[in-house]
Amino acid sequence: MTVLRGARMLATAVAEGRTTAEAAASSVAASIRQLDEGPEGLHAFLSHDADAVGERARAVDEALRDGRAGALAGVPVAVKDNLCTLDQPTTCASRMLDGFRSPYEATVVRRLREAGGVVVGKTNLDEFAMGSSTEHSAFGPTFNPHDRERVPGGSSGGSAAAVAAGMVPVALGSDTGGSVRQPAAFCGVVGLKPSYGRVSRYGLVAFASSLDQVGTFGRDVTDAALLLQVISGPDPLDSTTADRPVPDLMDAATGGLEGMVVGLPREYFPPELDAGIRARCEAAMTAMRDAGAVLRDVSLPHTRFALASYYVIATAEASSNLARYDGVRYGVRAADARSPDELVRATRNAFGREVQRRIMLGTYVLSAGYYDRYYARAQVVRRRIADDLARVFDEGVDVLFTPTTPTPAFRLGERTGDPMQMYLADVFTATANLAMVPAASVPIGETDGLPVGGQLLAARWAEDTLVRAAAGLERALEGRA
Ligand code: GLN
Repeated sequence: MTVLRGARMLATAVAEGRTTAEAAASSVAASIRQLDEGPEGLHAFLSHDADAVGERARAVDEALRDGRAGALAGVPVAVKDNLCTLDQPTTCASRMLDGFRSPYEATVVRRLREAGGVVVGKTNLDEFAMGSSTEHSAFGPTFNPHDRERVPGGSSGGSAAAVAAGMVPVALGSDTGGSVRQPAAFCGVVGLKPSYGRVSRYGLVAFASSLDQVGTFGRDVTDAALLLQVISGPDPLDSTTADRPVPDLMDAATGGLEGMVVGLPREYFPPELDAGIRARCEAAMTAMRDAGAVLRDVSLPHTRFALASYYVIATAEASSNLARYDGVRYGVRAADARSPDELVRATRNAFGREVQRRIMLGTYVLSAGYYDRYYARAQVVRRRIADDLARVFDEGVDVLFTPTTPTPAFRLGERTGDPMQMYLADVFTATANLAMVPAASVPIGETDGLPVGGQLLAARWAEDTLVRAAAGLERALEGRA
């Protein structure tokens, strides 16, 4: 399926004049036409304008002739459609923002552009990033490149599928409770979610502000880490970014597992875990041990409350963040309303059912009388979950290893009727967001022809340790499977 070389190799080739940004962009355009469009296509992209992309690529080639080559020189990048871009629509896969053009650009998009990257299109997602399958997109689902009858995961399913199908080498997504790692696992690519505060959220349409982070996809750890390196670091436009030096992730990606202590939290290997996933995880553990890692059993006792805490906090924050879509300031505006009240009510019907459900749940858990019982308690649990992780890392564990998901990619339509089943897809990933730590999903093989992801978590700000372990795991599995 691969039609492009990796991002790092491509950037080097472009910088050395062996190929051009324009050539790379036109090969992407051809593969999108071939793989993504039409009734048989994957539908990973919501917008792609080949002419505009060609123009952007030619500008990169020109800058190169002036001697300016960035770390992503000429690299085509797909961008999740909840990140604001200047000359393309930003829809969040919602009818609410159909036709919306942002007057400003996300910091991450600006940074990748300044590094020579070429945004080739905006990718599909669950509406406002709420979901685990892309089936909640108002514009129809994306299909899993490994099996068209299955979901690519979500909410960043379009970005994961675009990378997995070889349409682009790297892509940006966002991860609030697993939305980079879970689709990465379902599509067989690498997904990286940084520490909260490592990457600017400026221009990322807010879902749950205390959990949201922009993350990256690549076909290998080096590529995902390269894109993360470019977008990381403090931003005066987002006061939650930390003023800390960004570790050298390219150097980390050359490291290995020798001497690393890998914790295996027993709560992440429950009896219900899919047998194929368990088998791949066990094989990965053996490979890590053979590569010099020290495996250690650990316990994170508050894990069983993670999902409940996540769905209280995420919906509470969503209900507040989405209050701004009132028909006055952004996006669609209901016609013929006779009063402001009617205008807001009619306009908010442009939200899909899942988004409406989240807003109602969030409003409920924040309401007088229930606030203490739900929201305040969820915050206490969140602290305990973070403390569990901090204790394990303090005791000398470098990274934790878990399955990314409890099952491989499920069938389209299988879970849309049952929100609880859909929410369960995040059972292993939400912890990292609650605890604000960095986490990765790395392909660790297949079960019944479907990809399996292994998840690694590191202490907050230890992206270098995370990338080193992820690259080590990737290398340890090479030639095995
Ligand atoms: N699937 C989770 C949810 O529906 C996570 C989404 C995300 O990370 N954006 O909330």
